[in-house]
Amino acid sequence: MSDSEQEQELGITEQKEYSPGKWYAEVVQKAGLADYAPMGGFIVVRPRGYALWERLQANLDGWFKETGVDNAYFPMMIPESYLERESDIVEGFDPEVAWVTHGGHEELEERLAIRPTSESIITPYMAQWTRSHRDLPLRLNQWCSVVRWEATDTKPFFRTKEFLWQEGHTAHRTEDEAWEETMTRLDQYHRLYEDVLAMPGMKGRKPEHDKFPGGDTTTTVEALMPDGKSLQAGTSHYLGTGFAEAYDLTYRDEDENEKVAHTTSWGLSWRALGGLIMTHSDDQGLVLPPTVAPEQVVVVPIWQEDTREEVLDYCEELYAELEDAGVRTVLDDRDERNPGFKFNEWELKGTPVRIEVGPNEVADGEATLVHRPDGENVVADREGIVESVEDALDTVYAKLYAAAEEILEENVREAHGRSEILGTIGQHGGYVKTGWCGDEACEAEIKEQISAEIVMLPLDEEQEPVHDTCGVCDDPAEETAYFAKNY
Ligand code: AMP
Repeated sequence: MSDSEQEQELGITEQKEYSPGKWYAEVVQKAGLADYAPMGGFIVVRPRGYALWERLQANLDGWFKETGVDNAYFPMMIPESYLERESDIVEGFDPEVAWVTHGGHEELEERLAIRPTSESIITPYMAQWTRSHRDLPLRLNQWCSVVRWEATDTKPFFRTKEFLWQEGHTAHRTEDEAWEETMTRLDQYHRLYEDVLAMPGMKGRKPEHDKFPGGDTTTTVEALMPDGKSLQAGTSHYLGTGFAEAYDLTYRDEDENEKVAHTTSWGLSWRALGGLIMTHSDDQGLVLPPTVAPEQVVVVPIWQEDTREEVLDYCEELYAELEDAGVRTVLDDRDERNPGFKFNEWELKGTPVRIEVGPNEVADGEATLVHRPDGENVVADREGIVESVEDALDTVYAKLYAAAEEILEENVREAHGRSEILGTIGQHGGYVKTGWCGDEACEAEIKEQISAEIVMLPLDEEQEPVHDTCGVCDDPAEETAYFAKNY
């Protein structure tokens, strides 16, 4: 196959703007991130996709440890009797639980649930390990996979039946402490989006009817996708004392009284990678911020037979200097591929900065840096190249963030009245802010007509609503609701 035939086969054929679903699936597969598994709703994550997860994980894991969290590991199977001790969690997750009924040929005496989330196996152990107030706060986290038999359409990373995530579980003496913990984790999720994934996120609270089963308050980071839908990008739950009561998580206070602990749980999954891919990538393929890119820079030599050696020598030195400085670099010196092919391939793979070096650059002591998101060219002196590359990487990050921020800023609108809410979301997508009376029925009306729901309420419950009356029923408004279609 010729280079140009291969390029066509390798390249992205769908357009992000017109068929975002097909485009997304193509980017995920052709950039080598994931494949579909033989069972519907499951995926195989390829090394390139897993490398993204590892970088995300390293950041979050570091922040957790800096703030008092220890990692641990609990079994992936949970006895039915454990799950049943907290009735809300059974009810909430029941339709999505996968069950193990046999071990070999033997039917089990008690069914085992494949964990959809692990409160029901972790909390009883936290209870065993907690005697007095001196054992608290107790902060545990596990990196694992969970299984939820999702009824709605699945999509690689965004919604899969098995997904990788971390789940944090903590116990505290007081509501205030537990609430502070809930916020700490929400802030860390927000920071992950802002500082690592180049995505602006909005922090908020889920309405009562959409909170974590058995919990008290669910807080969320929502990220707007370029197709106008909101992504629930990470959730941090204040669980009150319900789980502690169900699993006897109590402690002896200073005055020797037995008290019930307050617990939290918080989870962020590989859905974050779905958001990352969807937000920044384009019709040429994957676009990655330098923070998570497996290779931040690719050096592509451009030679003719008579200049091959000098160009290659120059590139090898450049490569070595960048690697020494800690810049993740590849030198694409493949003989059998022409530069155009290489450009396309690294663009498809999402490498943030390309360095082109031809005989002219060698003669002038320069290098041409090309930014992946917009193709901007910068000619840099060979001397001081590390600094120029680091600047270019920062600039690429800033460009990605700014583009996503602009989309978010343009897509938070106010509307009042059924037809205006429906019309605004129908026409533009994005978020619609409106007054809300607090009645789920008002959300249901909008949901039925346009499948948009309340994805978020402001974190501060005391905040004055944006309108005096409910945008749907006109009764007095209690708070501001953010309606959007979501993933
Ligand atoms: P939850 O325990 O329900 O609060 O879930 C924690 C986080 O996991 C959510 O905020 C989502 O971002 C993510 N998540 C939930 N379900 C899925 C799924 N089926 N596939 C991928 N990520 C998910």
